[in-house]
Amino acid sequence: MDHFEYRDRALYCEDVPVADLAEQYGTPLYVYSEATLLHHLREIQTAFAPANPVVCYSVKANGNLSLCRLMGKHGAGYDVTSGGEFFRALKAGPQGSKIVFAGVGKTDAEIRYALEHGVFLFDIESEQELHAIGDIAHHMGRTAAVALRVNPDLPPKTHVKTDTSVKGVKFGLDIETVVDVARGVVGHPGLAVVGIHMHLGSPILKTEPYRQGGERAVKLVKAFRDLGHDIRYLNMGGGFGINYRRDEAKPAGAFAEVILPAVAETGCQLVLEPGRFIVGNAAVLLSRVVFTKSTGGKHYVIQDAAMNDLIRPTLYGSFHRVWPVRPAADVPERPDVDGNPDVPDPFRPMPNCFAQDVVGPVCESGDFLAKDRPLPALKRGDLLAVFSAGAYGMSMASNYNSRLRAAEVLVTGGTHRLIRRRETFKDLVACEEDCLL
Ligand SMILES: *Cc1c(COP(=O)(O)O)cnc(C)c1O
Repeated sequence: MDHFEYRDRALYCEDVPVADLAEQYGTPLYVYSEATLLHHLREIQTAFAPANPVVCYSVKANGNLSLCRLMGKHGAGYDVTSGGEFFRALKAGPQGSKIVFAGVGKTDAEIRYALEHGVFLFDIESEQELHAIGDIAHHMGRTAAVALRVNPDLPPKTHVKTDTSVKGVKFGLDIETVVDVARGVVGHPGLAVVGIHMHLGSPILKTEPYRQGGERAVKLVKAFRDLGHDIRYLNMGGGFGINYRRDEAKPAGAFAEVILPAVAETGCQLVLEPGRFIVGNAAVLLSRVVFTKSTGGKHYVIQDAAMNDLIRPTLYGSFHRVWPVRPAADVPERPDVDGNPDVPDPFRPMPNCFAQDVVGPVCESGDFLAKDRPLPALKRGDLLAVFSAGAYGMSMASNYNSRLRAAEVLVTGGTHRLIRRRETFKDLVACEEDCLL
């Protein structure tokens, strides 16, 4: 479910024609739908309500302060992976909102910063980290509440770069030895081991991994309690998949069905860290066609968004629907893409369309947003929408090729506001100017 739809062959975000936004704010432009974002947050909060969940929005999916603030206002805490994200969460959230801190390489400074600002839970990724946090907290006269992140050693579930629970990845503690690690800190004056954490990877379209992970977590909760640790939280992470094609994703209720029984068995409070599920379908990236060109039998649409704006296709071979903002009368009003994720992107013939690569201006052959996509003939100045661009889009954007990062706009019903201004040339050199040779 999202609030991007075509009405009379013009793409709308809620009640605003997105072409108006491109006109007013320029391109490339990220356009967010508040209703879509809140719908997905609510879907999770409702589906998991029986476990009284602490829903910690995963800031790395999209760290925009206004979006984070919106989620805090509607009851979310935050899941962060760096001191910078912790800073964002503090700035965005209502005071006292719960912040979970994950990541394999927390520095001493980050650990101190989190402790000083009332971190809710550290997700622990290694034995050394556990002891470091315990010692730092003890020196500060505090006790750090921690959840041990377990790698449950499940079969591959998603892209190799984003699967975090197969054997040998850098994340979490091995399931074979995690009980020994927990035994090693019984009675540590700086540590309160209060939870088990699992984040399986992302995006995950099946519920089975969560069922298996949950079962393994139940056994560990018992083992940890036998050691004397007061385990109160079961953190099942995030990773819930979304519709990039059409309807391949599961509703939150399907994940709740397999996770809730495990939570009930432990009597723990549930913590979740969804990112993509909340924000992924809540944005399109708007771009404008600069040129078209054909060479070596290939047809290219060169538009003004690039891999520095949305790197997922380049980095993971990810699929995003792309379609004109104002499709002509002789082509389908919206792209029809098979919802089956197990079938590789087929080139499906569409009336009056031909296979084109959608590429940006960056000087890399890997700079593309879509490949071999059936698209109608396009001309200079036409607007394109890249769908489902809300998660890991702007948050992974860079200045490569000294390109200015895009602006972001939030649509609420019939109104819209800028939530991040477009960067300027001055921004581009700001960190170098003060120390210029
Ligand atoms: C990235 C991440 C998440 C969020 O994953 P999504 O797929 O965006 O839901 C949650 N927890 C941890 C520890 C992560 O690293």
